Amino acid sequence: VSPGRAAAEVDRLAEGLPALLGRWCAINSGSRNLEGLAAMLAALREVAAPLAESVDEVPVAPGGPAVLDLVRRPGAEVRVLLMGHYDTVFGPEDPFRRGAPAGEDRFVGPGAADMKGGLLVLLTALAALEAAGPTGRLGWRVLVTPDEEVGSQGSAPLIAAAAAEAHVGLVFEPASGADPVRSRRGRDVLAVAVRGRAAHAGRDPGAGRSAVAALAELIGRLEALHDPARGVSLNVGRIAGGGAVNVVPDAAAAELETRSGTAADAADVRARIAATAREVAARREVAIDVRTLVACPPMPREPRRDALLEAYRERARALGVEVGAADLGGVSDGNLLAAAGLPVLDGLGVVGGGLHGPEEWVRLSSLAERARIAAELLTALDDGRLTPP
Ligand SMILES: [Zn+2]
Repeated sequence: VSPGRAAAEVDRLAEGLPALLGRWCAINSGSRNLEGLAAMLAALREVAAPLAESVDEVPVAPGGPAVLDLVRRPGAEVRVLLMGHYDTVFGPEDPFRRGAPAGEDRFVGPGAADMKGGLLVLLTALAALEAAGPTGRLGWRVLVTPDEEVGSQGSAPLIAAAAAEAHVGLVFEPASGADPVRSRRGRDVLAVAVRGRAAHAGRDPGAGRSAVAALAELIGRLEALHDPARGVSLNVGRIAGGGAVNVVPDAAAAELETRSGTAADAADVRARIAATAREVAARREVAIDVRTLVACPPMPREPRRDALLEAYRERARALGVEVGAADLGGVSDGNLLAAAGLPVLDGLGVVGGGLHGPEEWVRLSSLAERARIAAELLTALDDGRLTPP
């Protein structure tokens, strides 16, 4: 494998990327900030629209923010779905709202790596593909979503429908260190509500059924599901319940998340949580309701992804970049593509770190570096040197 014209086209396009990243990071596009999301969508559309044959904005809910949906050559023989998100975890009141260069090759800013930098990698790779004169064998669709950081519930149907029409999925979440992603665990978020019976804690404690005590017992038993060796983890992130200390409390609630490496493990964890809740409810004579708020399936290792990773690694090596493969605990829209049956490669965005924190950073030279690799991968799919696994 030797670098071709697409990589050279990236070099021609690369000069303006750091300035554009700075401008995009200065737009607050926290997942709940509708005004900021609209501003970011407009900025994104300005850069992305000239690449596409059709440009659409699809709201994720009535009055909600929109997915940017770009298509070129939809009837092509090989169809690639490229994905990113333009929301961030930083709200309009967050103290971390502006970016700034930090030394030679580094930019620190909200959403710089996750994933405004990744969006630049995605769009630059596509621009390079188109500028290099593609054969037309490859067609593409880009979805840039506004709700990834809050679970992608609104975007999920559109993502699944797009995945069903594609042959390969490419996701531009940040690399892990220098590495694209080989697997991601899945994630369930559950809400537990316990309903007991109130009573006077001094006069008539036997008449009460404490929701707080039942919830405490349930949590204690659920903690035993935590099994790092198997890639299963459980975290109770929030509890609430009770009121005055002289009243046996009749209500308590908790929110927890579980993570699992395989769909079988996820199903097993769900079943064990339900069974434990039933046991505790029966023994303590309370009602326990367990509701699923988010169910994101795992993206386990698979041979098709290994093949794509190898193809990516070869193109990276030809450009003088060594990359490995990362197994991560965090979820992305790659999980949804994988669950829809698509061979998907994730972590194709920038090299950076400090994600979701006030020091989030990007190695600026990785914008062009990663765009070159992605552009070469796309070109190989276009001219038939690489066939979708
Ligand atoms: Zn992300």
